[in-house]
Amino acid sequence: MISKYGVSASPGVAIGPALVLDAEEYRIPRRTVDPAQTPRQIEVLQEALETSRQEVSELRSAAARKLGEQTADIFAFHEGFIADPKLAAEAIGLIQSKHFAAAYAFAQVMSKRRQMFQSVAVEYLKERVRDLFDIEKRVLRHILGRAREDLARLTEPVVIVAHDITPSQAVGFDRETILGLVIDVGGATSHTAIIARMLDIPTVVALNDVTNQVSGGETLIVDGGEGLVIVNPDEETITRYRGKQRRQTEAEVELKLLRDAPAETPDGQPITLWCNIELADEASKAIERGAQGIGLYRTEFLFLASERVPTEEQQFEAFRSAVQSIGDRPLLIRTVDLGADKLAPSLGMTAHEPNPVLGLRSLRYCLRNLDLFKTHLRAILRASAFGDVRIMFPMITTLSELRQAKSTLNDVAEDLEEEGLAFRRNVPVGMMVETPAAAMLSSSFAREVDFMSVGTNDLTQYTLAVDRANERVAHLYSQHNPAVLRLIRQVILAGLRTQTTVSICGEMAGNPLYCLLLVGMGVRNLSMSPKNVPEIKRLIRGVPLAECKRIAAKTLRLDSDRQILSFLKGEHLRLIGGEVSE
Ligand code: PEP
Ligand code: MG
Repeated sequence: MISKYGVSASPGVAIGPALVLDAEEYRIPRRTVDPAQTPRQIEVLQEALETSRQEVSELRSAAARKLGEQTADIFAFHEGFIADPKLAAEAIGLIQSKHFAAAYAFAQVMSKRRQMFQSVAVEYLKERVRDLFDIEKRVLRHILGRAREDLARLTEPVVIVAHDITPSQAVGFDRETILGLVIDVGGATSHTAIIARMLDIPTVVALNDVTNQVSGGETLIVDGGEGLVIVNPDEETITRYRGKQRRQTEAEVELKLLRDAPAETPDGQPITLWCNIELADEASKAIERGAQGIGLYRTEFLFLASERVPTEEQQFEAFRSAVQSIGDRPLLIRTVDLGADKLAPSLGMTAHEPNPVLGLRSLRYCLRNLDLFKTHLRAILRASAFGDVRIMFPMITTLSELRQAKSTLNDVAEDLEEEGLAFRRNVPVGMMVETPAAAMLSSSFAREVDFMSVGTNDLTQYTLAVDRANERVAHLYSQHNPAVLRLIRQVILAGLRTQTTVSICGEMAGNPLYCLLLVGMGVRNLSMSPKNVPEIKRLIRGVPLAECKRIAAKTLRLDSDRQILSFLKGEHLRLIGGEVSE
């Protein structure tokens, strides 16, 4: 039995067999066969190609059912490539002329194709090189007779163990078969962690080398809340964690009873609770959990989940269905926030920037790609005809960026007007405050927007110069650092002075450790993962505003994050009872 601590990314307990991803490496020796054996090798190759094609075709249909046609397109390229008669003919040629074994012949052909794709100047083909590896592995697996550890075909639930999982991979995970996630790299507010929370999959990240310590098939316990993974637990430990699992489920059922209760402190201060969503169909689920609106719709996931850049119509449909599914409640659509750890292959985005978090990401990318941005804004504005859509720009650093974004929005509105397309004329326009520059200038920004929302995930990253997705500095990523708290306070004060609504939509908003502090600091609007809503509502209903203000005043006087952490934990224990983690 081995216990390993990493960083808590999504709470809950999972117990199940390990499935290690990306551990398979095919090294195909140069093998030739007796000339009499070549017909059999050709048969093996053709069968493997046909089975692979069928598999991909099934995956495509399943993805189309689950995620829509657009996402299913990922597999269209695979299917077309495998079915190409030239591919089979080339490999068969090598088997016949050089008497190569099927696997070696196929690997040779694929290696040539990869070189070809890589050498052309077409970005789309370069991007397909990773797909070629995928295709090669799939076909070789069939030639070599190995069972495929295919996530889409899992027959029993597993705990996934991986070095890394991209946000676009995670968004396709099936909650029914993936019990838990255990990852070498990453941080608590990385986007993969955010998706894991959205899917409610217990997850531990930043385990460094867990993939070296698990080979697959071992029983794992994942305690997402504690950031703990236990490999090969004994019976007694399993029984203890099953108990914990049961108690958590019971507590969740109890919390659900609060669904319709108001989020109001005992001394009558109402707090608005909104949710963060990544995909359109989560909007209505968030409302079912008791949220009063959507405070952050991360539209970039529409781009991440699909092989092609979503068209205006596809984006419009997604935004319209989201806003229609929540009645007259607000839907804050954040304009695409791509880049850093959210790379869209369809846009030819690769991790080539030396410092992507400080690079051409988010609104900066949009302002450099105006056609894409305008199409996106058209889709959002058109959806505004169907409900309370509000627009929010991410990653603003300077006033001129905000003005440029707003002026592009005005141009788009004029175009729609001319074309006679319906949209709401007075759509509220806001911005995320997630750079120290924006927080420090929040009074100036507040005069030019209808609302501001503090993105504490990035604000922490940029204030402390700590990459939020880098496990090597995860111990330095502290949202309660006094510098971060003082910047948040500055934004709240700017909001009060200018009567501009300030909400918090970073992960801090849904974290019980910070809830009372934020309310005490003057926040009246919190936007969080749907899962956190009941717990946060319980806290708000349990502690008077006066207590929250006292906590905030004391916290803001402390100047070390350790002191702040222990003070907040102590207050939580005293007022609510029970431990709370970071
Ligand atoms: C943030 O940075 O706090 C935020 C809410 O945006 P994202 O997590 O998508 O970067
Ligand atoms: Mg952000």
